[in-house]
Amino acid sequence: MEQGLPYFEKFVETYPTVSDLANADEKEVLRLWQGLGYYSRARNLHATAKHVSEVFGGIFPNMYKEILKLKGVGPYTAAAIASICFDEPTPVVDGNVFRFASRYFGIKDDIAKQKTRIVFEEVLIKHISKEQPGIFNQAMMEFGSTVCTPSPDCPSCIFNVDCFASIRKIQNQLPSKSKKIKVRERFLNYLVLHDGSNYLMRQRDSNDVWAHLFDFKVIEGKLDREEIFNKARELLTHDFVIEDESQEFQHILSHQRIKAIFYKIKLAPDQIKKVKSDFGEPYSVEEIVNLPKPKLIVNYLEQIGIKS
Ligand code: SF4
Repeated sequence: MEQGLPYFEKFVETYPTVSDLANADEKEVLRLWQGLGYYSRARNLHATAKHVSEVFGGIFPNMYKEILKLKGVGPYTAAAIASICFDEPTPVVDGNVFRFASRYFGIKDDIAKQKTRIVFEEVLIKHISKEQPGIFNQAMMEFGSTVCTPSPDCPSCIFNVDCFASIRKIQNQLPSKSKKIKVRERFLNYLVLHDGSNYLMRQRDSNDVWAHLFDFKVIEGKLDREEIFNKARELLTHDFVIEDESQEFQHILSHQRIKAIFYKIKLAPDQIKKVKSDFGEPYSVEEIVNLPKPKLIVNYLEQIGIKS
């Protein structure tokens, strides 16, 4: 909440209506999102604003089934919107609800499996308040995050007399979860080409993390300085020297641990024009500030004195 609130306020101020967001330039939307991670959410929000604007005449759908069809909206978000905004009794199931409900009702199904959500929804639909489903859902999430936490406060819990897990003293065994997220380690070697006033930056494609954000030409792999130099020589047709090599930057994403080193290379203005197009386009420092960039790139730019 703390991290998201300033972004929410900036978004609402910049795009006060759905059509303002629908008509916005994607680069600008991503720039406002910069630093928050999960950039697909910004792109989905933008796509959904366009859809709501064009297909629904700017009126947001008010039923769970319709909300679920929107891009980037899954069962959790659809249930939260339908219940909190439109009083539809659709149970929300997030990590906190999984924990509390599995312990209280004694649901032992593996929460790492997709289909288990339905098991929980079927139990919760019998209990959700028909009058105040939004309050019920928020209370469930809040209870899981404040009382029925990974180390639950059972002695002061109002449910401890009839809680399945508490009676059997198996709180630590629930919820049941099998799968561990596999974290992929990646090594990114960035070639930061510049001519003293312009830097070559490119927009990332859609098949990897940070889709549509801007960074530098990258050589991926665990390589030493010499190997990087040789690969750079294959890519650049003329002589060059590595002006500066950064320290190693680390960046943790949900499924990836990224280690990155930036190699700064200065070229003459006439040389930079001849560099292959996959290095990107030249951008001045002022232009770079306004480009949407991953936090990793922002951190590096700040280190070389470009506040962005
Ligand atoms: S008694 Fe303990 S395990 Fe059961 S719902 Fe309360 S906090 Fe959770």
